Amino acid sequence: MIVLSGGTGTPKLLQGLTEILDPDGLTVVVNTAEDRWVSGNLVCPDVDSVLYTLAGLIDQSRWWGVRGDTFRTHEQLERMGHREVMALGDLDRAVHIMRSDLLHSGLSLTEATERVAKALQVKPRVMPMSDDPVATIIATPEGEMHFQDYWIGQKGEPPVLKIRMEGLDQAGPSPELQEVLQREKVALIGPSNPVTSTGPILGVKGIREALQKMTVVAVSPLAGDRPFSGPAPRFMRAVGVPADDYGVRALLGKVDHFVVSEESRHQGPCVKLNTLMRSREDSIRLAEEIVELI
Ligand code: GDP
Repeated sequence: MIVLSGGTGTPKLLQGLTEILDPDGLTVVVNTAEDRWVSGNLVCPDVDSVLYTLAGLIDQSRWWGVRGDTFRTHEQLERMGHREVMALGDLDRAVHIMRSDLLHSGLSLTEATERVAKALQVKPRVMPMSDDPVATIIATPEGEMHFQDYWIGQKGEPPVLKIRMEGLDQAGPSPELQEVLQREKVALIGPSNPVTSTGPILGVKGIREALQKMTVVAVSPLAGDRPFSGPAPRFMRAVGVPADDYGVRALLGKVDHFVVSEESRHQGPCVKLNTLMRSREDSIRLAEEIVELI
């Protein structure tokens, strides 16, 4: 099974899935459209959150970074007048350094991710959606800005006029991902932002076509018309779809089993489940129900 993932909702579900499925049968394909070079190193926020979740290291209060991490390097850089767009923890930064070193030595992002995953003793396969760079650009009344400058730098406050994915037109799956796409029969589109997380993955050349031949299960990231967290409704309206499960469905395309929250007003074919994951137990329960559907 392949799981399409962003950095918060789907990693929560992965906690349960990895409890009940053989990790050898699981490949997580992760959004890279929020990646950003910071202080000389490539930060892949969604890939990192997936890796930390699967390694048991994730800070579950924020769903990014390593639990108990310190920020001494970041603080020292700030004291030296070097501003960073995001606060990177010291242990987190070690991953970015290793990844960037591997990239500079000639490895692809897919190969570098595999090395980092192995070093963190992550069992399921974790792959970036593409080795080609993609950047989420948000248009606001103050001008265009990278997703991280909008979400962290501007605290997600300016109205969102448009969203475009720079580089997505030219992005293709890595040879390793192509091989996985040819072989796998089931895809799970996790409960992640359909505009900025699962949207870019589905936009990579060949991925939608590959899903046509698979059984596709999707879990909505919305609780009725509200997100569990984050800016999904605002982003959905900015790309011209309603901020509800009809909008999620429209953005995802082919889905065979559409899992929505119990409070959803979706009238089309769907399966209503309790999709809130506050604990590992919630995640295991939802994962079991999804696996049963498949
Ligand atoms: P990002 O990369 O950090 O933006 O994270 P994702 O795109 O993976 O996840 C953000 C989405 O996850 C938001 O739209 C949330 O509504 C959704 N989400 C967060 N927690 C839950 C949950 O417990 N259940 C479900 N179904 N969705 C959730």
